[in-house]
Amino acid sequence: MTEFSAALNEDQLQIQKWVHDFAEGVVRPAAHEWDEREEFPYPIVEEAAQIGLYGVDFMLNAIGDPSGLTLPVAVEELFWGDAGIGMAIMGSGLATAGISGIGTPEQVVEWVPQCYGTADKIALGAFCVSEADAGSDVSNLRTRAVYDEATDEWVLNGTKAWITNGGIADVHVVVASVAPDLRGRGQASFVVPPGTPGLSQGQKYLKHGIRASHTAEVVLDDVRVPGRCLLGGKERLDAKLARARERGSSGEKQPAMSTFEATRPTVGAQALGIARAAYEYALDYAKERHAFGRPIIMNQAIAFKLANMITEIDASRLLIWRAAWLARNGGYKNAEGSMSKYKASEVSVRVTEEAIQILGGYGYTREYPVERWHRDAKIYTIFEGTSEIQRLVISRAISGMRVE
Ligand SMILES: Cc1cc2nc3c(=O)[nH]c(=O)nc-3n(C[C@H](O)[C@H](O)[C@H](O)COP(=O)(O)OP(=O)(O)OC[C@H]3O[C@@H](n4cnc5c(N)ncnc54)[C@H](O)[C@@H]3O)c2cc1C
Repeated sequence: MTEFSAALNEDQLQIQKWVHDFAEGVVRPAAHEWDEREEFPYPIVEEAAQIGLYGVDFMLNAIGDPSGLTLPVAVEELFWGDAGIGMAIMGSGLATAGISGIGTPEQVVEWVPQCYGTADKIALGAFCVSEADAGSDVSNLRTRAVYDEATDEWVLNGTKAWITNGGIADVHVVVASVAPDLRGRGQASFVVPPGTPGLSQGQKYLKHGIRASHTAEVVLDDVRVPGRCLLGGKERLDAKLARARERGSSGEKQPAMSTFEATRPTVGAQALGIARAAYEYALDYAKERHAFGRPIIMNQAIAFKLANMITEIDASRLLIWRAAWLARNGGYKNAEGSMSKYKASEVSVRVTEEAIQILGGYGYTREYPVERWHRDAKIYTIFEGTSEIQRLVISRAISGMRVE
């Protein structure tokens, strides 16, 4: 067990600087263009792959850090550069988290590298859980997976909604119902390998923010995947379903829920990066901008906003680092992962809104980046568990009761 410390080690400081330099030199200058184009920024992700920031080695290195802090530190810097491009670079990580969370070691070795490809030929991963009628309520999935014993294949049918990298990914990880009578306890995750017939992209969504990140429906029409694509394997699934039938509850979390729990501090770090970008920009602006013959920061009304902004940002970072450390060292007790994501996302929305206020009319225009940061921040109170769902998770953890 590693002691918790907010002092980063040499490696972490180096990674922080390395990612910051990339965010400053490559990501931020490209942010406006890709937000306007509302397209996946392939050239930037390819550049990230060339330097080793997009790829399986970076993820393994970050995830392998015993303190848990490397990933949130790197992610904060990347998203400080831009959240849309940041999500294009990090989106495959959700699929790999889904695979490593439930997959056998053989499945992890086979599929995780395929979610990233190589530095010369990148690939993408997508994690497909949500559906039009099952977002927060993931127990309500309609997508079905039926086992065909004759061919040892699973046949998948359904439509997934709002999927990051949906349809453009090489590897899609799909959560489907295998035993509808068991609802959330009757679900399993499948890898759909590259080029599998029957999987296609439905509508691409036009969004409020993180517009460089691709979000689309994924349509599964009689998609047949080999038995080995069931994550965790058939024996484990059969045992889990049998236990669920016996006890009415298997005691195991739904596959989607355990993935989201593990990734929450990292998602919080994404929101934190946006908030810090907005705070720094607003601070500089407030020192430069004059009104009534003095810099606007000389007014307590503006200075106190900035004081609140940095206090909330630092509080969010501490919650994120604590959660990331706990995830690696002893586990959560009071849903600390949810706390960190909840706090950072609400802070990010508030801080970016205050940044617009500090920039006044300029802040409201697309000439300045703060309006984009505000649009980008908003997604964090919605995806990977809305702010309401985070509070539900925390309430249940602290009370031990099924708060509804
Ligand atoms: C840009 C983007 C990218 C995404 N990427 C992915 C992805 O890669 N993979 C994936 O699987 N999904 C993805 N999603 C889906 C996302 O996770 C869902 O949109 C989210 O979980 C919310 O679900 P919903 O939209 O159905 O809202 P709903 O569940 O319908 O919620 C609507 C409102 O009701 C509230 N609410 C619902 N239930 C309760 C309750 N019990 N108590 C209190 N309030 C409640 C919610 O908090 C929310 O405010 C993405 C979404 C977006 C917008």
